[in-house]
Amino acid sequence: MSKKNQDKPVKNSFFNCIEKNFDKAERFLSIEKGLLEQIKSCNAVYRMNFPVKIGKEIKVIEAYRVQHSHHKLPCKGGIRYSIKVNQDEIMTLSALMTYKCAIVDVPFGGAKGGIKIDPQAVSEEDIEKITRRYTSELIKKNFIGPGIDVPAPDYGTGEREMSWIFDTFLSVCPKDVDALACVTGKPVSQGGVRGRKEATGLGVFYGIRELCRMKEDMSSIGLDVGLVGKKIIIQGLGNVGYHAATFFHEAGAIIVALAEREGAIYNQKGLNVSDVILHLKKTGSILNFPGAKNIENTETALELECDILIPAALENVIHKNNANRIKAKIIGEAANGPITPEADEILEKKGIIVVPDIYLNAGGVTVSYFEWLKNLSHVRYGRMEKRFSENMNAELLQVIETVCKNKIPKEEKKIILKGPNEIDLVRSGLEDTMISGFHKILDIKKSSKIENLRTSAFVLAINKIVDSYEKLGIFP
Ligand code: NAD
Repeated sequence: MSKKNQDKPVKNSFFNCIEKNFDKAERFLSIEKGLLEQIKSCNAVYRMNFPVKIGKEIKVIEAYRVQHSHHKLPCKGGIRYSIKVNQDEIMTLSALMTYKCAIVDVPFGGAKGGIKIDPQAVSEEDIEKITRRYTSELIKKNFIGPGIDVPAPDYGTGEREMSWIFDTFLSVCPKDVDALACVTGKPVSQGGVRGRKEATGLGVFYGIRELCRMKEDMSSIGLDVGLVGKKIIIQGLGNVGYHAATFFHEAGAIIVALAEREGAIYNQKGLNVSDVILHLKKTGSILNFPGAKNIENTETALELECDILIPAALENVIHKNNANRIKAKIIGEAANGPITPEADEILEKKGIIVVPDIYLNAGGVTVSYFEWLKNLSHVRYGRMEKRFSENMNAELLQVIETVCKNKIPKEEKKIILKGPNEIDLVRSGLEDTMISGFHKILDIKKSSKIENLRTSAFVLAINKIVDSYEKLGIFP
């Protein structure tokens, strides 16, 4: 391979990148080599080709479902629609899912699916045909089911595709009382859970907010604690990037740049994310947003001055050729695998704190887990306790007023009285998961004197997976 191409995201390299990160954790573990090899390897790879009639032509569609680990069942992971989909990519993303689930205590093995299409170049009707046919292929090979393998949205897919998947599954398995749990990320009207759509972006926000609360870490990079006033750049204004941007903006951070496929926009005073979305809907592009400067080459936006950089689009966007030019003090990996191992080493030498994908974007799978539980229990979160909590709160307030001989103001009373509904419970569960996950990683980093959060996160994940293997009694 020519030197020039060594660090390019070439075919068959992404899986090796993750293996390299995994291997860095080995020296902090005392685990038999064979078991580590088993954890690293993909348990099952299903590569399929199927025909779909598009217009008057028959097109052969290439697609994948990879189950990386069966140490816990079902397997879980999103489905990606992109023209760049290939086996190596889907294997890697499925491996990341295994580590992610272990870190946030979600009892699933990792999986991932992908269809090699450009969803922007295919009509809605054809995307539906392709999605339904893909689901049928998964059913035929027993690669989908509430206790087997449960897909979810990823790059290029959303609620719409998930409801087609559910509908196709139900039509083949109408007697399965748990059929709703065969896929997550569904619309709320079709068994989805409130809060799933924004979960990954909100999880990214909770994770970065927690890091920014750490005085020691913040002073090591010359920043004050807290998010207020921190300058943020976000790449990718899709599901993850858009929601993360919105939560950072609401918390008082300043979104100085947003990058999309067609270019980036910059305003050092800050961009209003919802106005940018309105502009995008109106003009079809984020460029020429009033008050902002256009940046033609979208990649250069990653190199602008800021405190926090959030890549939320695709993998390998920070590589050894641009890592040295990154000026951010914190990088939050909202996307999967946005930093190559070579770039990671450069960033570490520069003292940049990288919050790794296997922790930071786990909000989606966490809330998918809540949705799966909701589907299996056949009851909405909050249904049992909302009224009970409200009655208890009312009694408590009455006692306080009697004892204090004082009336609590009406508005404050209203807030205290309110019992939790589904979105409150989901967000509370997500917040707790992200905060406790962060501290587990930080504790390992400190106690094992590990240089960075990524290796610490891998140590945490591997230990958890080994525990499960031992509990299964597979390796007595
Ligand atoms: P999405 O399809 O909703 O959005 C991706 C966005 O990135 C799109 O707006 C697209 O136009 C933009 N984009 C594509 N190429 C770009 C480029 N070169 N420069 C700038 N922007 C570009 O996808 P998503 O669901 O938001 O996923 C984004 C990333 O987050 C992926 O890596 C995915 O694997 C990861 N992720 C997603 C979820 C989830 O719940 N959706 C969960 C975990 C991880």
